[in-house]
Amino acid sequence: MKNKKVFILGMARSGFEAAKLLAKDNEVWITDMKEQNKENVRILQELGVNYIITEDPKELLDESFDFLVKNPGIRKDHQTVEKAKKLEIPVINELELAYRYLHVNAKIIGITGSNGKTTTSTLIYKFLCASGKSVFLGGNIGIPFCQFVLNVKDNDYVVLEVSDHQLCDVCDFKTNISVLTNIYPVHLDFHDSYDQYKQMKKRIFAHHTNEDIAILNKDNEESMRITKDILSRKQYFSKNSKEDCYLENDAIYYQNEKIIDVKDILLKGSHNYENIMAAILVAKTYNISNESIKSVLTTFQGVEHRMEFVKNIKGVSYYNDSKATNCESTKIALNSFQNPTLLILGGLDRGHSFEDLKGYMSNVKYVAAYGETKNRIKEYCDSMKIPCNCFENLKEATLMCYQKALKNDVVLLSPACASWDQYDSFETRGNEFKKIVNSLGEE
Ligand code: ADP
Repeated sequence: MKNKKVFILGMARSGFEAAKLLAKDNEVWITDMKEQNKENVRILQELGVNYIITEDPKELLDESFDFLVKNPGIRKDHQTVEKAKKLEIPVINELELAYRYLHVNAKIIGITGSNGKTTTSTLIYKFLCASGKSVFLGGNIGIPFCQFVLNVKDNDYVVLEVSDHQLCDVCDFKTNISVLTNIYPVHLDFHDSYDQYKQMKKRIFAHHTNEDIAILNKDNEESMRITKDILSRKQYFSKNSKEDCYLENDAIYYQNEKIIDVKDILLKGSHNYENIMAAILVAKTYNISNESIKSVLTTFQGVEHRMEFVKNIKGVSYYNDSKATNCESTKIALNSFQNPTLLILGGLDRGHSFEDLKGYMSNVKYVAAYGETKNRIKEYCDSMKIPCNCFENLKEATLMCYQKALKNDVVLLSPACASWDQYDSFETRGNEFKKIVNSLGEE
């Protein structure tokens, strides 16, 4: 890509990396509504990038631009995007841009789905690393492809978590293996309809021929329905029937060969068996040994803040599931433990009900409620006859659980609320929880 005039709409991490990549050989304009990280702005300005903070970026866009790179979070009906289309300026995103810079013969593995993308991508990355391959992990997971695309060499592996937002503005992007973990009706606020959302997910198989592989969840009806006519070679995983990879008698099998007993897997929760099976299918395509797969599954404690095992203190296991910002995710976490559980709930009050947790609370022996929602949680627990106390903050809630927990109990932070009443992100909340737990005592 040389001597082009490029408009980057929205900076953040991905816009920054796109601008850096383009700046050497192109004229780059980058806009955002909010002031950005000062150091990043300085780097871009030194590279000659035009950085402009404006509420009305469309005024800056005219026919002199060759293409527009849109931040994935910006809707397609944004006025600047609509103007670009009127002016017949192609609109792409950072993922597509990076792909166009990829001039080596690397193996691209793309992972999308409504849930499980980060966990599955991380497992694939770890399986490939465990067998000594040269692997990159990036995409929606927080490391833009543009950041490392120029470092990728022939025969390297590139594992990319791809969100449906990112799939909206790709055109040439193509994988060698695409994984679709599942499809549920989520993120519908961003798309015009559920149908449109599903069509976007399907783009992960774009340009596939029978040389390329699709890894699909046989148990998920929507995934099966939308992939009927794709041209990829299909491989299936299932918890219910014997497919290429399957769960039977509490063990995971690949083509009738036992890979691992479930009891030896550190990741908790049956939803994670789906993620593991999807990742095993990728690993097996590249002839990764059972030993390498097992070495990861017996040591990997989970992606940070997603049912992440933190520590065992006097026989009590502490888990950080700070990513659970709604009842749906907390239900999945509760379903993953048979042990008596002390549950920490609370956070931003969006007016949502906790009634949805009903049916999942049978192992919960105590609830520590904190944050904006604490009183409503207490009302719900009273109605369920589950002991509950209210606390001002996470530290007090955790300390009370520590005092009350007995051997073999689980203390679970799975708050069913966003963190923004007291934290800037679920990551900060999870990190604080881990800090508190790590200061509590020794195993
Ligand atoms: P994503 O990257 O798609 O958000 P993660 O791997 O970060 O997914 O997991 C986020 C949450 O989604 C988990 O804490 C769990 O509640 C839920 N989840 C993960 N994998 C699955 C799955 N295969 N099926 C259903 N829910 C899942």
